[in-house]
Amino acid sequence: MEIAVMIKQVPATDSVKIDPETGTMIRDGLEMEINPLDLHSLEAAVTLRDRAGRGRVTVFTMGPPSALRAVRSALAFGCDRGFLVTDRAFGGSDTLATARTLAAALRKEGPFDMILCGERATDGETGQVGPALGHLLGASVLTYVNDILELGEGYVVVRRAIEGGEQVVRAKLPAQLGVVKELNRPRLTTLRRRQAARETPIPSLTAEDLGLPKERCGLKGSPTQVVSISYPEVTRSCEMIQVGTDVDRAVSVLAEALLKEVAPR
Ligand SMILES: Cc1cc2nc3c(=O)[nH]c(=O)nc-3n(C[C@H](O)[C@H](O)[C@H](O)COP(=O)(O)OP(=O)(O)OC[C@H]3O[C@@H](n4cnc5c(N)ncnc54)[C@H](O)[C@@H]3O)c2cc1C
Repeated sequence: MEIAVMIKQVPATDSVKIDPETGTMIRDGLEMEINPLDLHSLEAAVTLRDRAGRGRVTVFTMGPPSALRAVRSALAFGCDRGFLVTDRAFGGSDTLATARTLAAALRKEGPFDMILCGERATDGETGQVGPALGHLLGASVLTYVNDILELGEGYVVVRRAIEGGEQVVRAKLPAQLGVVKELNRPRLTTLRRRQAARETPIPSLTAEDLGLPKERCGLKGSPTQVVSISYPEVTRSCEMIQVGTDVDRAVSVLAEALLKEVAPR
């Protein structure tokens, strides 16, 4: 069983700043971490391999050279190998160009039976990369996976969280799974594993290594463009209405005040 885990390095903060000129995130000086949902993918992959007593877990991230740290942390989880997909040509990639680049990396280092992704990244939050990647690789695409019930010869059975309930799905391998946090509880890494991870070589994969022409990746290979970006204006106003202890009067006064706000002017 060959399992690929896709991890994204994200800012370890909610107060992300956007460059108003380019519409992209200002990442300089930010503390970074592995996207929290990707820790659940790592936990699932390592557990599946260990339960089966065979197989291999390979971790991939696409990002700047500093994303090497994320791959190293993932190796400390017990992954067998890791790759950093990095090239200046990848700068400005939208979600399709990201998925296309990652798909090329998986084709080069695969094949893989399972591709695990977080349901969404805490910064971009589109939730598009996993399904796009699965589609490009011709894999079964399973979103909102909160349990992996069975892994058999050529198939997987998962439970998906859907609106108002749950759904059990059996799908052919290869399969791409988008996981949610209910899937498991990620382990803490041990000092011994962190030390071992420090020694593990992490190869880089460039556009040339992946045979990707420059016009198929980065800004040039991105069909979407950030046209403008702005922060919502937050305005609050407050009005105190004194009605004493008469609840009925309080309700009608409040309803009247609300109706004034929503009524067509
Ligand atoms: C026009 C445009 C230009 C952009 N330019 C830039 C730019 O210059 N610099 C920049 O940093 N971002 C840029 N972005 C954002 C970039 O496209 C997204 O960060 C990236 O595609 C991931 O999307 P997401 O964060 O919504 O991930 P989601 O789709 O929400 O992530 C879901 C899962 O996919 C996997 N995944 C996502 N991204 C990666 C990755 N990089 N490596 C491995 N696995 C991954 C992870 O498993 C993750 O949990 C740009 C976006 C657009 C639309």
